[in-house]
Amino acid sequence: MNILFATPECAPYVKTGGLGDVSGALPATLASLGHDVKLLLPAYKDMQVSGEVGESVDLAPYGQWPAAQLLPVKLASGVTLLLLACPALYQRNGGPYVDASGSDYADNAMRFGMLSRVAALLGTVHSPLPGWTADVVHANDWPCGLAPLYLAQSRMLAPQERTATSVVTIHNLAFQGVFPMETADLLGVAPMWRGIDGVEFWGQLSMLKAGLQFADAITTVSPTYAREIQTQAHGVGFDGILRARSARLHGILNGIDTHVWNPQTDPLLPFHFGPGRLEGKASCKAALQGRVGLPVWSDAMVLSMVSRLTPQKGVDLVLAALPRIVESGAQLVVLGNGEPALQDALRAAARQHPQQVAVTLGFDEGLAHLIEAGADAFLMPSRFEPCGLNQMYSQAYGTPPIVGPVGGLLDSVTDASADPAHGTGFVMKACDAAALHDALARAQGAFRDPKRWRRIQANGMSRNFGWEDSAHQYLEVYQRAALQRGALPAAVSGI
Ligand code: ADP
Repeated sequence: MNILFATPECAPYVKTGGLGDVSGALPATLASLGHDVKLLLPAYKDMQVSGEVGESVDLAPYGQWPAAQLLPVKLASGVTLLLLACPALYQRNGGPYVDASGSDYADNAMRFGMLSRVAALLGTVHSPLPGWTADVVHANDWPCGLAPLYLAQSRMLAPQERTATSVVTIHNLAFQGVFPMETADLLGVAPMWRGIDGVEFWGQLSMLKAGLQFADAITTVSPTYAREIQTQAHGVGFDGILRARSARLHGILNGIDTHVWNPQTDPLLPFHFGPGRLEGKASCKAALQGRVGLPVWSDAMVLSMVSRLTPQKGVDLVLAALPRIVESGAQLVVLGNGEPALQDALRAAARQHPQQVAVTLGFDEGLAHLIEAGADAFLMPSRFEPCGLNQMYSQAYGTPPIVGPVGGLLDSVTDASADPAHGTGFVMKACDAAALHDALARAQGAFRDPKRWRRIQANGMSRNFGWEDSAHQYLEVYQRAALQRGALPAAVSGI
């Protein structure tokens, strides 16, 4: 299959969260299974990419969009990175979505409308890449949400021409890509699709809704989240559409990139370790304590958190649990960035308990790896969690996670109290401070029993969180969606 994976972020080039990690790993796994995979990514400022650079392709100005270029780079993984170069839109100081002061770029609709438009174009007979048209356009999150709509528009205008099957993946339904309805003109959304059955969302235009309405298939990143988002409590206004399209909605658990997240080989760690030989983990613990300025207490239980600092992630619950954490003699290491009030509260806690609480504000890949390796347990008391990756990294690194009872956390962590033989972590019984306290108490009880703790660590470390299974499930979704819309003859089977 010719697969176009369109994404606003991709590790290791540009990453703000889990979507970056998924983009770095899933396309490579699909390529390793024999498919021709191209990854469309904006060429942001100062991105370092190495690979075999191909001939660039010019894209003429279109509607309100300026001229641009596609620069193909063949990566070692076999994936071809298609860098979408449009300096007026993408060469900026700041992140992919926000400027250096943390505000959304005012022209995000145009920036990601462009990404979606080019993604769709690559799935039509007008593909700008000589000799290559996508069979599947896989659009990720709201920044690519218009791609399925543009493909549907192409089909409507020229039904006799071949177009790619479209798949949209929801990595987080909370980010909906909402813009004033006036942008529909700039974005070239057909007037007939500006209503409630199209992109309209409370009087505005939602790019994510475009994807949900027009994609041939919808996926999200865990089976439990796929069920949750069809309920009013978790559907953030989209539960109705998702229920209506439930036959096209699939939950596929993310994997982890085991080349990047492997404690036996991780180049970002000062010491290596693996199942059955954990000496290196103890050395990483001391290195972590030293690096973040905590006293090197080898017996203290080091709790940790690496996270965007938002209410979603339950940071306030950790703050509420802090007095008890400190009283128990444990240490807490936090790495994160996000909401100023949460940053301030964490900073104040670190000032108040300099021997037991260390907080690093910012984004630091190296420290994230050291925390996963050096901590004893990992905190992820999320209120909702589409999939979550850190709980999988922490299991692979022998750092049992303490998690909220939601989404992908439920699909990837086995509670050690409920299932002592197979437990890999601790699942809270609700999303509140009392439940976190209870889960922490259970984890601390287990930590005091080294044999029991080693069992929990070993269970987590022996789990297979690789991408292969999930990649096969994506291929099935691609194929089924193509069959359902009649783009493939029914006799075609086995991808
Ligand atoms: P989300 O996508 O909701 O932010 P995930 O758990 O799916 O959460 O993925 C988060 C990814 O981003 C993980 O790889 C995590 O290690 C990383 N991450 C989050 N915050 C930071 C940070 N401050 N520094 C380094 N890595 C971070």
